[in-house]
Amino acid sequence: MGSTTTQILYALTVATTPTRPAPEDASKKSHHSKSGFRNPWDSWRDVSFKSVGEVMMRRLTGKANVPDTSGPTVPVRTPEFLPSRDTTQLRATWLGHAAYYIEFPSGLRVLFDPVLEERCGPYNMLGPKRFTDAPCKPTDIPLIDAVVISHNHYDHLSYHTVTAIAKKHPNCHFFVPLGNKTWFEQCGIQKVTELDWWEECDITLSPTTKETKVEAVGEGHPEASEITARLSSLPCQHVSARGPFDRNKTLWCSWAIESEGKKVYFAGDTGYRPVTELPEGEDDHDPKYDFPVCPAFKQVGEFRGPFDLGLIPIGAYAPRHVWSPAHGDPHDAVSIFQDTKCKNALGIHWGTWVLTEEDVLEPPEKLKTALKRFGLPEKGVFDVVDIGESREY
Ligand SMILES: [Zn+2]
Repeated sequence: MGSTTTQILYALTVATTPTRPAPEDASKKSHHSKSGFRNPWDSWRDVSFKSVGEVMMRRLTGKANVPDTSGPTVPVRTPEFLPSRDTTQLRATWLGHAAYYIEFPSGLRVLFDPVLEERCGPYNMLGPKRFTDAPCKPTDIPLIDAVVISHNHYDHLSYHTVTAIAKKHPNCHFFVPLGNKTWFEQCGIQKVTELDWWEECDITLSPTTKETKVEAVGEGHPEASEITARLSSLPCQHVSARGPFDRNKTLWCSWAIESEGKKVYFAGDTGYRPVTELPEGEDDHDPKYDFPVCPAFKQVGEFRGPFDLGLIPIGAYAPRHVWSPAHGDPHDAVSIFQDTKCKNALGIHWGTWVLTEEDVLEPPEKLKTALKRFGLPEKGVFDVVDIGESREY
């Protein structure tokens, strides 16, 4: 039995905006290369084929740590999404790995890097298998206005997830780093905006009323008004590829989203400083080591901060001398948190797929140690949550 209710649908329009002040070097586009894109800083060191070879050799020779996923790891709960656009607080729900669903008090609903498949790899058949269940299906999320993607690696961009979202939410708009639009169009998704680092756009969601026979769920919003937001594509230190022949042909980025007074920073997937191979037991965060740090995060903080909430990667870092240029560890994550001027943060990029050698529950432990070193409280500032759990700010 359905009752007649007024359902408010929103039409989303995107306007490019004149870029606000940005660092001097932003206009030089030094991250553009002949064949695609590059990390233009001393903090970058290539982690390409040599690293893959080394990782394979470590496995073959038994030198690699093989994380145990047999016992209980990260608890998974069924997410509780708000049934309408009414929200008083900024609300963040972890959907595993880098996927976060953000409910802004303005009514805006944003999904970052959704991958809700069993495997992260080509055709959903190759690549690592989840050790924690997906907390929901893409079609379980009641409202999605914008899907925001950091880069095209399989653990951040899934064909099955994005096409399922586009089918259920035909008004949903996809925001991607430069060079990724064609892939979406090839998937049949036309509502896509691609941005270069430091470029921004403004979105407006305008209510359009529609009489429909449904139970009073989903779009109810008694006094519907326009919802506005500004999205900024920002730098981070990473690479891209979906196959053997498209290395760094599309850009990677972090994102800032500001909607009616609340600001979120999504760091995506990033390294911070390149660590060389150190003797066993040495701590690369010992002050005697001064590896160069990626300057982009201080610029993000200076020109776009502060943020109410940062979503910052804490996993996929071991061994450090292989992965550090592209994946920070929890100590790097706290540095990024401070550089970008986030008031609060939640850890992403862990607890879902085994991508590297650290034990699966090590990232939150190392995060506690790092917070202590920075003189920050272990709880309540930069936290980790259960998969499917929501936090309000
Ligand atoms: Zn990646």
